[in-house]
Amino acid sequence: MPGRRRAPGRSPTEDEGVSKGFRRGLLCLALAVCLALAVCLTLAGCQAKRGDEVVVLLDGKAWDGAEVSPEKDGPRVIVTLDGAELIDLPFSEPRTVTVRQPDGAENAVAITGDAVYMAHANCENQDCVNMGQVTLGNLELRVMGGFIVCLPHRVSVEVRE
Ligand SMILES: [Zn+2]
Repeated sequence: MPGRRRAPGRSPTEDEGVSKGFRRGLLCLALAVCLALAVCLTLAGCQAKRGDEVVVLLDGKAWDGAEVSPEKDGPRVIVTLDGAELIDLPFSEPRTVTVRQPDGAENAVAITGDAVYMAHANCENQDCVNMGQVTLGNLELRVMGGFIVCLPHRVSVEVRE
């Protein structure tokens, strides 16, 4: 091929294969860079305002960390953040639990006495709010079982029998 530079000693097919492989490599690299950039931006956005404490409100008042109804003889509602337990409450006692994160993320879990649901969340997708109620009658039938999860806020609520 005139005008096209080729490494000496390489056959045309080898050269084509190399350039195809090289292009594929470049594409992969570009994709990886895009992905890494997206992850970095997301993490930076999440962590930019961190440094303060996560606040848990029980019925609108700051919870002091004391166990609530520690006898644990009935079903419980466990709220976790990043997989770590924040608070463990009895399922049968009506309450509202609000999880307020330093970055402004907020989730309000309603416990009615016979159901649990995400009453409010300021997450983008509102998936958690749309997951509906968990009752003792439906927790084995739901796709998510006894769980209500807010992925953007890394908050999960579990009804444990
Ligand atoms: Zn959510």
